[in-house]
Amino acid sequence: MIGPHEALEIVLGHAPRLDAVLLPLAEAAGGVLAERAQSDIDLPPFDKSAMDGYSVRAADVARLPADLAVIEELPAGTAPARPLAPGTCAKTMTGAPVSPGAGLVIPVEDTETLLDGRVRILRADVGRTHICPRGEDVRRGETVLEVGSVLRPQEVALLASVGRDRVAVYRRPRVAVLATGEELVPVSAVPGPGQIRNANSSSLLACCRACGVPADDLGVARDETGDLRAKIAEGLARDVLLVSGGVSMGDWDLVPKVLQEAGVTIHFATVRMKPGKPTVFGSRQGRLVFGLAGNPVSTLVGFHLLVRPCLRKMMGRPDPVADPLEARLLAPARVRDDRVTFQPAILRREAGGWTARPVETHGPADLAGFCKANALVVLERGSYEAGARVKALPFEY
Ligand code: AMP
Ligand code: MG
Repeated sequence: MIGPHEALEIVLGHAPRLDAVLLPLAEAAGGVLAERAQSDIDLPPFDKSAMDGYSVRAADVARLPADLAVIEELPAGTAPARPLAPGTCAKTMTGAPVSPGAGLVIPVEDTETLLDGRVRILRADVGRTHICPRGEDVRRGETVLEVGSVLRPQEVALLASVGRDRVAVYRRPRVAVLATGEELVPVSAVPGPGQIRNANSSSLLACCRACGVPADDLGVARDETGDLRAKIAEGLARDVLLVSGGVSMGDWDLVPKVLQEAGVTIHFATVRMKPGKPTVFGSRQGRLVFGLAGNPVSTLVGFHLLVRPCLRKMMGRPDPVADPLEARLLAPARVRDDRVTFQPAILRREAGGWTARPVETHGPADLAGFCKANALVVLERGSYEAGARVKALPFEY
């Protein structure tokens, strides 16, 4: 049986980076840039005031106080009409262009308005001009973002400033989510005898959303070949199909069989990990399928370890796999299983570094327990004392 590390390598080996698409800027947010972005203008585009105050000539404030005639007012959005002659200044608001010839802007709090309409400059510091010179941030034609840049809100703002209302980003995979199980009832229903609410469709859709990836809900397939076949066929039309449940050893765990009948090549069907030993990964003509263990915690762990990096690679993220952190265990732990155990834990940053406190849960169905954790700690067979150094994988959701 392969380990989780090898499973991830296999998944990434089959995950293609998708083609570039040109998108309106707002839709590109959260994506990865597939082109170099250059600026069509200087930034700032003009010598700009950083303060509400007065544009003055440096020579006019060499001796203080200095009384200067105000020749015009420059709110943001106006262009100065006149250069400054000796003995004059212009009222200049934050974000407005300074007057030609201005050496500095005197903040309004360092001035006094005189009764004759002139202004008295009380203090001036020629070392602090309060002027942002044209082009000091970006020069026209300069590359502002390279291929592979992740478009966080700040990159989106930069692209907006340089005139890019459409940008090429790598296409995000379209995902389909399918829950399986006779026992599943909708969230709005009160479960009858033997029934349980479908938690996995909600969690997987939320996981995709947290990755910035669109996902469609294919609902629930019954544990019956015909129903599974139809819904799996629909899911295989997407880039990635996520099936939960129906992958273990029970008589009604039909997912691997139906996938194979549909022409899916199964790359692995079990992984030496806990939870999530029955985890299936396959592909058909470049489309990928995950069969995640049905217990809700197992589904979430499977997504975090295998699906998330896969989706991130497909959307062109330069860092598809999150680096584990090193943490100090705050309580002893013991693993009797040969499988790599992903122990829910509370990860905290403390003065001496990261600490991880294992969260006790009642097993892979215990969502209430699992919700107390913000990370998984990676444990191998053996005993760990309090203080032991372990790897931790924080959730980003
Ligand atoms: P399975 O992998 O289908 O054998 O399911 C393992 C366990 O997970 C069973 O207790 C199922 O009832 C439960 N389970 C499967 N799918 C879901 C789901 N969508 N929501 C909540 N629990 C589920
Ligand atoms: Mg089932």
